[in-house]
Amino acid sequence: MALKLSPRDLYYRKILLTRELENKLPLDVALKVRGDYHARKPPRPCGATVHSVVGCAYRCTYCYLPDMGVSNSVYNIYALSGEEMTYALLSNPSFLPGRLGTLIAIGSLGEPFVDDSAFHRTLEYLQAFSRYLGNPTQFSTKSALKETQVRALASVKLPLSPLVTLVTLTKSERLEPGAPSPEARLETIKMMRKNGLHPVVFLRPLIPGVNSEEVDDMLAASKAHGAVGVVIGGFRVTPLILDRLEKAGFDTSEIRRRVKAELRQGKQLPLELHDVKKEALAIAREKGLVPFLSACCANNYTAMLHDGLRAPCPGLDYIDGKFCTLCPVNCPSIQTAVDESEVKEFVEKLTSVKVSELQLDEKFIYLRLAGKKRIPPHVRAVLEIGYRRKVVVR
Ligand code: SF4
Ligand code: SF4
Repeated sequence: MALKLSPRDLYYRKILLTRELENKLPLDVALKVRGDYHARKPPRPCGATVHSVVGCAYRCTYCYLPDMGVSNSVYNIYALSGEEMTYALLSNPSFLPGRLGTLIAIGSLGEPFVDDSAFHRTLEYLQAFSRYLGNPTQFSTKSALKETQVRALASVKLPLSPLVTLVTLTKSERLEPGAPSPEARLETIKMMRKNGLHPVVFLRPLIPGVNSEEVDDMLAASKAHGAVGVVIGGFRVTPLILDRLEKAGFDTSEIRRRVKAELRQGKQLPLELHDVKKEALAIAREKGLVPFLSACCANNYTAMLHDGLRAPCPGLDYIDGKFCTLCPVNCPSIQTAVDESEVKEFVEKLTSVKVSELQLDEKFIYLRLAGKKRIPPHVRAVLEIGYRRKVVVR
């Protein structure tokens, strides 16, 4: 049976939840939260990123935070409470609540479990998302968690996607001088699996000439400790990162060979890694791990493991095929049902413009709007996430 998609229903739920939280939060707090970064930031393909901690203490040699003006040796726990963060997300015009809403990812600007206070703040966010939202939620970590902490995470009623980063088994002292050891992270993976979570190993960054020779060993160890999959990520380099790698004694000639533009201070340049990633994908399959090329696909996959629902990935990676590895969700084969009159009415509500022409198929929504050639990014995000179709305005 086709999966019914109705972002209009999610949108009305969003309004009700917003009112519920407005009734709970003092007015001055609600006003402050509406000005928070999480309430205003533009949509990203991976969904809504949430920062429970800004900064880190693990001082990884390859870390891009210092290039973004964020410390990787000092951190701050985010000031918003769980309900305030939930309200911030609901205030963001591109966010949709619910299992079929926006994917949430915690941890891109800091380590969410860097100490006990960070753990409590992150757990508080997860519990609030469970109480109000129900969106598939991912976190990425390098921390060694205690079993009590893993149990607390596993008890949160939410489609939860744990990503545990592992980039080396042998060079962590030079690559990640302040982080828990790879062995401790593998133990964390084991505990997560034992407690009913579906941990995915985050193999990022993949650095040619530095850790690319370890992929086989890392994936074998991850599988042996209970990981269900692996996200194979790239590597973005800056002059500062190259400098740190060289000072740590690494040969960077292979990295420099793969940078296709001129290196400039503060500008992160992606490396051409097609061949290395292809090999890592093959190794992952051979080891019995489900491979991904994007973290949002891992989030969508673990949500399916959580509740059995196969839903097309909101990142829409399967439409252009660039990042889709055809994981067991098998997005291209999922039939979805969308009510054409709802699409028209909903687009008109969001844009305040009449729809003069509308065509739908399984992958696209083609629109013609009276007197407009474009729609705002947040409207596009709501439509594309809600209907799981790319929007083309003619
Ligand atoms: S754990 Fe992540 S955020 Fe922290 S220093 Fe390492 S790369 Fe940077
Ligand atoms: S089928 Fe492809 S697009 Fe869908 S979740 Fe899996 S990897 Fe991602």
